[in-house]
Amino acid sequence: MEPLSSNLIQWYSANSRDLPWRINKDPYRVWISEIMLQQTRVEAVKGYFARFLSRFPDVASLAMSSEDEVIKYWEGLGYYSRARNLHKCAKAIVSEYGGVFPASKEELLKLPGIGEYTASAIASICYGDKQVAVDGNLYRVFARLNAREKTLLDTKERETCMRYFQNWMENADPGIINQALMDLGELVCLPGGVPHCLQCPFVNECKAHKVGKELFYPAKKPKKEKKSEPLIVFLMQFDGKYVLSKRPDSGLLASLYEFPNVEGTSLEGAKKALEERGIKIKQTKFVGNAIHIFTHKKWDMAYYRAQVSEIDSDSFVLASKEELRSKYAIPSAFAFGLKAIS
Ligand code: SF4
Repeated sequence: MEPLSSNLIQWYSANSRDLPWRINKDPYRVWISEIMLQQTRVEAVKGYFARFLSRFPDVASLAMSSEDEVIKYWEGLGYYSRARNLHKCAKAIVSEYGGVFPASKEELLKLPGIGEYTASAIASICYGDKQVAVDGNLYRVFARLNAREKTLLDTKERETCMRYFQNWMENADPGIINQALMDLGELVCLPGGVPHCLQCPFVNECKAHKVGKELFYPAKKPKKEKKSEPLIVFLMQFDGKYVLSKRPDSGLLASLYEFPNVEGTSLEGAKKALEERGIKIKQTKFVGNAIHIFTHKKWDMAYYRAQVSEIDSDSFVLASKEELRSKYAIPSAFAFGLKAIS
């Protein structure tokens, strides 16, 4: 066995995290956790994972549910295309694979929402396949250990990293190697801040540590300027219920519910645009401004309370206060509005 691999396994046996999705090698649990963990911290995922699993304990129950319900259980985690793909994927596993997860990375990659990282994680952890799950954590360990100045955006570099750790999987459990590297990247070789090198199993071999340049590796990804989009958002009631609209079924925050809003800064323009969509507004009152930042852009929102004189109820949803909480998935981008009416 590669000596560093053996150091890593020893470290992991003493320091591995006790995580609810690690109680067995059930690919369903591993899959749900890996999808939830994309863009979300472990501590935040734990509660969502427990709630999701209690409602959808297996792939069949997930496949049989409605997309709206799956999204509701995802509410707050963000990046909702993950929830829609989970649902599609569960249906595909039931209809095409008889409800049993495929074991090979190649087959897993054919499923909706399962990319390189997730397929490698499932194949290695659940089926012992020698697949390296390369993400930012794992690459950071690789880059520091070997003083590599590139970023994960470099495809060749990603392959080099993959081959490097694949060697560590010879005569070792590939799932343990991946999970140990995930834990080491999160607990010791920290992303922001000084890594805890003295607790690291590679302290004597790490090239970055030898020259005291741990934070220099890996190279930083170039930051893109976020485009700002102004939005006017209306908080409206009709017949004692709140007015919501459903977003289009593709694109940003697809199929989620929102307070009716219009792009731009002109209140009069926004009222006109809403009238064309079927709502006539009598009076408005400014409530406040809010910002929501996405990965690629930000919304600059101006909120108004509005009195409705006419509404085409086929184009909008009327929801009671209780239904806003329990029935309709409203993304956190509209948290300011939800707070304003609570
Ligand atoms: S010695 Fe320090 S920098 Fe190097 S891999 Fe370990 S924690 Fe990271």
